[in-house]
Amino acid sequence: MTSQILFYIIIGILILSFIVDKILDSLNAKHYNDPIPNELNDVYDPEEYQKSQHYKRENHSFGTIASFISLFVTIAFFFFDGFAYVDEWARSYSDNNIIVALIFFGIIMFASDLLSTPFSYYQTFVIEEKYGFNKTTTKTFILDKIKGWLMIAIIGGTLLAIIVWFYESTGEYFWLYAWGIIAAFSFFMNMFYAKLIVPLFNKQKPLEEGSLRSKIEAYATHVGFALDKIFVIDGSKRSTKANAYFSGFGREKRVTLYDTLINDLEEDEIVAVLAHEVGHYKKKHVIFNLITSIGIAGFTLWLLSLFVGNSTLSEALNVSQPSFHIGLIAFGVLYSPISEITGLLMNLVSRKFEYQADNYAKNTFKALPLISGLKKLSKNSLSNLTPHPSYVFAHYSHPTLLQRYRNLMK
Ligand SMILES: [Zn+2]
Repeated sequence: MTSQILFYIIIGILILSFIVDKILDSLNAKHYNDPIPNELNDVYDPEEYQKSQHYKRENHSFGTIASFISLFVTIAFFFFDGFAYVDEWARSYSDNNIIVALIFFGIIMFASDLLSTPFSYYQTFVIEEKYGFNKTTTKTFILDKIKGWLMIAIIGGTLLAIIVWFYESTGEYFWLYAWGIIAAFSFFMNMFYAKLIVPLFNKQKPLEEGSLRSKIEAYATHVGFALDKIFVIDGSKRSTKANAYFSGFGREKRVTLYDTLINDLEEDEIVAVLAHEVGHYKKKHVIFNLITSIGIAGFTLWLLSLFVGNSTLSEALNVSQPSFHIGLIAFGVLYSPISEITGLLMNLVSRKFEYQADNYAKNTFKALPLISGLKKLSKNSLSNLTPHPSYVFAHYSHPTLLQRYRNLMK
């Protein structure tokens, strides 16, 4: 295959995935006005329903404009040999391939983040603000950005340097070494994310004394989950939207409840949400996801190892000197249809797991408070009660509210 053809395949993949995305978006938007199913007609009053309709439409048009600009910039960058310029620039600083790769990705990622910042600023301080969700201050927004950059520079930079070093020194079996380091890193991050990363952005506290804690204690004892593994996080620092999640395993397992969740829901509803999260732990969902993602990473790295050294990849991007980082960029786009498929499968599994966790909450606690809690959460985030099935299939990691309602009422 000539590099010219490969170049157009890359552009074709970028455009095709954009088109598929837009078709799903507009299909979903066409159903915003569908009648609300009977089971859910107590979620919104008419005024709130109007508000949710406006919120969906505004997000939809904003998303369409943002993704169109992003596609345009990306394709222009490919057509005007952007990667070749950045590669040349990085090479003017060093002959060392590891340092060149670090400078190259540093520039690409920093530039793309700068380009996307006005959009996330608008999303937070205009749209979310208008609908009363935003609690982020400009200071928090800027600090989040800086911390995010530092984190990527330190963690991402170290991993990249190690992987390029493996590539340079071990040849065709580099992917096995790279897989080893990525597996060890994923394992470590899954285990200590709550202890090492979350505190950089949020405060986490144990549950306060009081009737909620006693109720939770009674439930936790009943199912054998230690109370000191339950934390409350200050989500209200950024948004009024509420959430809860389970993370870690072994000694480091924990359930994290947003303070917004505790403010919005009744005590029974909070215990039901907690029971759902404990269900994720009891059914070993975190471990399954960790092992699966490590498996997928191995497959991806093996495939990468077959192509990354091929000079056609770098020629397609008009770069004369083949290198790991240029190969990685071209491979990244070529691989994206496969990662779309693995993403669909992971969402499919995730929705199954959500039913299992709901059933666990129903069997060890109660179904009704979970239903009313989920309804409140939907209402308070103005969520879409009538998503299109194909959009749900592609993008939803959770079943729809209606599906969860029907499952819990069985
Ligand atoms: Zn869940």
